[in-house]
Amino acid sequence: MCGEWKIFTGWFALQPSCQQCGFVFERREGQFIGGIGVNTMVSFTAIVATMGLCFLLTAPEFSLPWILGPTLAVGIIMPAAFFPVSKTLWAAIDLIMIPLEPDEAPLRQRPLPKRSE
Ligand SMILES: [Zn+2]
Repeated sequence: MCGEWKIFTGWFALQPSCQQCGFVFERREGQFIGGIGVNTMVSFTAIVATMGLCFLLTAPEFSLPWILGPTLAVGIIMPAAFFPVSKTLWAAIDLIMIPLEPDEAPLRQRPLPKRSE
């Protein structure tokens, strides 16, 4: 929301909210299923691209180990490597699709409560 970089406590552990502005990342239960979808699409594209590249590089003999090895490696590494990007990307896409409601505005941007006399 504010551009803060340190929003993960570990590779797979997103903080509940931004330490800078207070934006709550998981706004609804199950929100990050979209992030899994983004990760799946990007990983699958990388797998198909790797497989195609290996086919081209080993043509015309088509060495099975040289096609399966890199493809399996990308299939295992890519979903884990792309996880933080897919999660933050989905948080941004979700924020664009469903703008903040006044009651869920980040803490630092909430209007100050009016004093009662
Ligand atoms: Zn923030």
